[in-house]
Amino acid sequence: MFTKTKVAALGAAAVLALSACSSDDGGSEEAASGDFPEGSTMAALSDAGSITIGTKFDQPLFGLVGPDGAPVGFDVNIGTIIAEELGISADSIEWVETVSANREPFIEGGQVDMVVATYTINDERKEVVSFAGPYYNAGQSLMVMADNSDIAGPDDLSGKNVCSVEGSTPAANIDENYPDANLVLFGAYTDCLEPLRNGQVDVVTTDNVILAGYVDESDGEFAIAGEPFTEEPYGIGVGLEDDEFRDWINDVLEEIFEDGRWLEAWNADGSAGTVLPEPEVPSVDRY
Ligand code: GLU
Repeated sequence: MFTKTKVAALGAAAVLALSACSSDDGGSEEAASGDFPEGSTMAALSDAGSITIGTKFDQPLFGLVGPDGAPVGFDVNIGTIIAEELGISADSIEWVETVSANREPFIEGGQVDMVVATYTINDERKEVVSFAGPYYNAGQSLMVMADNSDIAGPDDLSGKNVCSVEGSTPAANIDENYPDANLVLFGAYTDCLEPLRNGQVDVVTTDNVILAGYVDESDGEFAIAGEPFTEEPYGIGVGLEDDEFRDWINDVLEEIFEDGRWLEAWNADGSAGTVLPEPEVPSVDRY
């Protein structure tokens, strides 16, 4: 499903309000296209005054669309800060739903200017898109019904029905390294929740922080099993070889790690910090 919405994100707007006075590029001065190298993606976006950002719509704490149609969460807040640094206000962001499998094609096809969507940086993806970041480090984990004590880690998946999402790194990991598991793939992680409840699948696997959002919403129904068993550094996907844009986003990330805006984005309403512990500040990888 490909749905679009063009609305101000309340959580993101709150982050912007908090951060409006902490920008270091001249205090009250708004960014303008003249601030960026001629011909750069930054100049083009700043000039246009709008940006299209791909994010998840069904992942609490990172990107979740509420009843008002606006996505809320840490990824949404990070995308909003980057837009703000381009001089683009929250209500001029067009949020496009990206699921795991369409992130590279949407960047390659120009449907989005960038993707902020629990998007793991890896070598395979780097062949078709470029990544700024990481801005967070997650890890693959397992989620079961709270009364299930059979599964404590990936070595217990043999013969189990394991639900994940097409085009995701957790699905690829199970497929490659745990061949005795029966992998059941859907388009988005919320598609796995009803099958878990009714016993069609035994486990849902993806990043720990995504699962934590579903556990939090489940009212004790779901639980995390065991510890994270991979590293999933979250990057911001942009066009392949757009090194100027990637470098500039990395500069913004380093600035917001320093000045507190990254942590504000983490702790904002509806964002990750409402459930998850405060993370260590990541180090940007300028590969
Ligand atoms: N971070 C992993 C990935 O990028 C899993 C989460 C997701 O599918 O968005 O594939």
